[in-house]
Amino acid sequence: MTSSNLGDRDRLVAEHDRALHDHAALVARGLSLDLTRGKPSARQLDLSEALLALPGEGDHTAADGTDCRNYGGLQGLPELREIFSGPLQVPAAQLVVGGNSSLAMMHDTVVQALLSRLPGAERRWVDEPRVAFLCPVPGYDRHFALCERFGIELIPVPMTPEGPDMDVVERLVREDAQVKGIWCVPKYSNPDGVCYSDETVRRLAAMPTAAPDFRVFWDNAYAVHHLADSPVEIADILELCAENGNPDRVFVFGSTSKITLAGAGVAFFGSSPANVAWLIGNAAKQTIGPDKINQLRHVRFLKDAEGLAAHMRRHRDLIRPKFDAVIRILDKELGGTGLASWSDPAGGYFISLDVPEGCAREVVRKAAEAGIALTPAGATHPYGDDPLDRTIRVAPTYPDLEELELAIEGLAVCVRLVATARLMERASGS
Ligand code: PMP
Repeated sequence: MTSSNLGDRDRLVAEHDRALHDHAALVARGLSLDLTRGKPSARQLDLSEALLALPGEGDHTAADGTDCRNYGGLQGLPELREIFSGPLQVPAAQLVVGGNSSLAMMHDTVVQALLSRLPGAERRWVDEPRVAFLCPVPGYDRHFALCERFGIELIPVPMTPEGPDMDVVERLVREDAQVKGIWCVPKYSNPDGVCYSDETVRRLAAMPTAAPDFRVFWDNAYAVHHLADSPVEIADILELCAENGNPDRVFVFGSTSKITLAGAGVAFFGSSPANVAWLIGNAAKQTIGPDKINQLRHVRFLKDAEGLAAHMRRHRDLIRPKFDAVIRILDKELGGTGLASWSDPAGGYFISLDVPEGCAREVVRKAAEAGIALTPAGATHPYGDDPLDRTIRVAPTYPDLEELELAIEGLAVCVRLVATARLMERASGS
């Protein structure tokens, strides 16, 4: 994060006037740019074009002889589980391959926990007087929306540069037996790019919880999505949970949505043997088997863990210039002004931009006036409510570089406009 202070009042007024002028010019350009969602660009999808011709006519037999065209194989192809075992830090025998969406697997896991007693649970969650989840903020809006849909209470927990504030987490799970889960995006977190420290992971694995059926929803969506030269490695939560006598504590999720094709990838669930048996037992009532042709296609395409890593380097070559451009423009336009601070992530899909308190909504509104669509302010918080109205999520991957640069330059104008107005109000005591 970068910040410093803007000088005296005259300078503030001059800055505001300049921003007013720049914003009017921006609106007059009639732009139409979209920074709302973390989607791969068409060029990134092109990297996986070969998938569309795989596995190819006549190739439908998995390594163990399974005919992938047929029913069955609820746990997913062993060779695909092998490829993702290392990156997701789950033994292949404890990984399950699902459909095309990890969010769907998370949704389904919550619904199953509501309706079918989890290992270690006294009762189904639906029979509890109240179910609450801890939500590190800023976080991923779809995690929150999923819980809201089922009346699960959302309790915000502040993020730190090492992950959620563990003093707060430990207190809440110790004191409240109705706290049944926590949402975690442990690597290159959405939206602030934070990677959980080893100590945070250890504390999550070891902490005493009042609920016997407390679960960590470990959404490792960006496990292999490195932007920096040296990949970040996080501690192995599944192993740490087992070592600390809490073998069933964690549900690991992941997918290839931002590896191969966002709409036609494969998703993963990993956990203890007991949880895996629970999940597969439930799945057996839902389906006679997953799409193993898509799984085989992914095996043929990625080949092995090294093939996966090489493919991710090709993604990095496409998206790193975009992240670099956002940081460069924010530095140039807002660096040293004290009007904003931002994350400079080593991986993942987002940059988190913090503006002065009470400004985020207005910045997003001013950007919309200029034809720049941003994720709604507040989306990074439970119930869409950022109490400090401060955090804006920037998603640089989808637009092309030129559009992205225009959008970020425009966004910087909106930040200058709104933040200088707010600082002038504050200076005059209103
Ligand atoms: N988890 C996180 C943290 C994400 O950012 C996203 C996509 N934005 C997802 C899950 C969605 O994953 P999937 O496409 O596998 O449903």
